[in-house]
Amino acid sequence: MIDFRSDTVTKPSAAMRDAARDADVGDDVYRDDPSVNELERRAADLVGMEAALFVPSGTMGNQIAIRTHTDRGEELLCDEQAHVYKWELGGIPQLSQVQPRILDAGERCVPTAEQVRDGFVEEDLHRPGTGLLCLENTHNSRGGVAVPKAHVDEAARAARDLGVPVHLDGARFLNACVALDVEPAAMTEHVDSVMFCLSKGLGAPVGSVLCGTEEYVDRARRVRKLFGGAMRQAGIVAAPGLEALENVDRLADDHANAERLADGLNDVDGLSASDPDTNIVMVNSEDAGLTGEELSAACKERGVSFSAFGDYTCRLCTHLDVDRDDVDEALDRIGDVVADA
Ligand SMILES: *Cc1c(COP(=O)(O)O)cnc(C)c1O
Repeated sequence: MIDFRSDTVTKPSAAMRDAARDADVGDDVYRDDPSVNELERRAADLVGMEAALFVPSGTMGNQIAIRTHTDRGEELLCDEQAHVYKWELGGIPQLSQVQPRILDAGERCVPTAEQVRDGFVEEDLHRPGTGLLCLENTHNSRGGVAVPKAHVDEAARAARDLGVPVHLDGARFLNACVALDVEPAAMTEHVDSVMFCLSKGLGAPVGSVLCGTEEYVDRARRVRKLFGGAMRQAGIVAAPGLEALENVDRLADDHANAERLADGLNDVDGLSASDPDTNIVMVNSEDAGLTGEELSAACKERGVSFSAFGDYTCRLCTHLDVDRDDVDEALDRIGDVVADA
């Protein structure tokens, strides 16, 4: 099976398995795990922040971030297509008792300064106040868009001018930095916290990191405990995460493969693909007379797997475990499916 469902389907490399076996470990709740400590140090340095916290998943990282930034009853400002709002089981109200105020960031993927100011609610007798702005880069639901630093900065600075902290959901943050050729530390210049996943394009089996100031991460550590995410000999999973940090530069290969995939899909009569910024390709199959579900089901029978993402849209994601030859092979098979439809 050539699997484009997600960049989370990768299997750990031999180096990652070796790293897990040989990891120096201790009880991380006592801060005794050298592998976790090293991973947190390196992650913080990579994104130019003081400290980092290793967490089991991106979802937990985001939800810890939100809980740590906000007080009960406050509002959280985000795009209507934001992962934190759309794909995390209503975690914002469930776990933080915070009310999302959504706005439509459109193709820009992050709000303009004006949208931030319009969405801002001042605390008074009747209104709870805005407690947090959440941004996302790359933007998943909008097609893996790498949001330029200038747009991130504009939204973040507008929030900070209003005294509102900013969290960046950077599940694929490093894809954005590689695609835009921006230093990770520069991309976080005006945000207060960033979460990025080790388990997506970087290829680790498990884990994400939440980064911010020392003071913020100390508070986030208590929330992680509350949410059940404090782990013991976590070096077993942190050590492969350290290996994963070696995979940052090669994300460019995934982006090149996505572009090749999109070009090939556009050559198939009836399909039209997005021009991918990073490793996510959205393809529309309406002119082929196939719904997204029909296209993905038929391709799966021929050994190519990807997900329907709306009536006539599918999402394909490139990653470490699909190479250029896999892309070409998949294009042949998808072309056959559409021709036979
Ligand atoms: C995948 C993803 C997450 C969640 O990460 P998990 O490790 O799957 O919980 C959060 N935000 C975005 C934008 C994502 O793509």
